[in-house]
Amino acid sequence: AVPYEVGGDATLAELSPGDRGITVEVQLLEVERKIIDGRDGETEILSGVVGDDTMRLPFTDWEPRPEIEPGNSVRIENVFVREFRGVPSVNVSEFSTAERLPEPVEVQETAPRWSVRDAVESGGLFDVELVGSVVAIRDGSGLIERCPECGRVVQNGQCRSHGEVDGQDDLRTKAILDDGTGTVTVILDENLTAEVYGGDLADAREHARDAMDRGVVADAIRGRVVGHEFRVRGSLSVDDFGANLEASEFEEHAVDPGDRARELLAEAGE
Ligand SMILES: [Zn+2]
Repeated sequence: AVPYEVGGDATLAELSPGDRGITVEVQLLEVERKIIDGRDGETEILSGVVGDDTMRLPFTDWEPRPEIEPGNSVRIENVFVREFRGVPSVNVSEFSTAERLPEPVEVQETAPRWSVRDAVESGGLFDVELVGSVVAIRDGSGLIERCPECGRVVQNGQCRSHGEVDGQDDLRTKAILDDGTGTVTVILDENLTAEVYGGDLADAREHARDAMDRGVVADAIRGRVVGHEFRVRGSLSVDDFGANLEASEFEEHAVDPGDRARELLAEAGE
């Protein structure tokens, strides 16, 4: 048997890198215009997220067409599948055709829940839910500075690519989540960090100024999350440096009282 599919209809969950000539019916959840340096100079492409009733995946349209609009449901023939950061990515080319569907394609609202070990061993998952306890906050959390040129985190006023720069303040959290099967670094962006910190960037600056120590912001975040259980949804990538989950949702996980009672009974019976 060939290791990849050629032709036919497929759900997003059935796609693997290497598949080609595939037809999918999807809803366009996010669409972003990008300018890239192509062979023939600058070209415009579309990229974003598609979904069906099995899952969500990233996509790229190399020949932008009007049917590819946020909210549209489309039948796209002749797509090919590539690997992008460890997950299958749907590629729409000049040889693909897109037709708008009259009825919206149903989209799976929740992400599948995985154990940390299985998620990391999969090599990458575009949209996954993990539940575990935050055991620590890594360096580079709290009130950080980014290079105005490249966005990388600046340490001691130095960007690794641009040398001495005037860093721009930002909020970020790198939390180590442990579910008993493994650990993953969960990265919270400015908005999610502001939620757990309980204040925005201006509040964090004032906090640091009053304390004359930028570390107080990370300390406050540490105090709110370490030792607590969270449900996290996001995109997991795995490389030689470890497993990182860029979070889109980060919520304290309320333990079901019924489950907790059963656990206590089980423990008492041991
Ligand atoms: Zn830089």
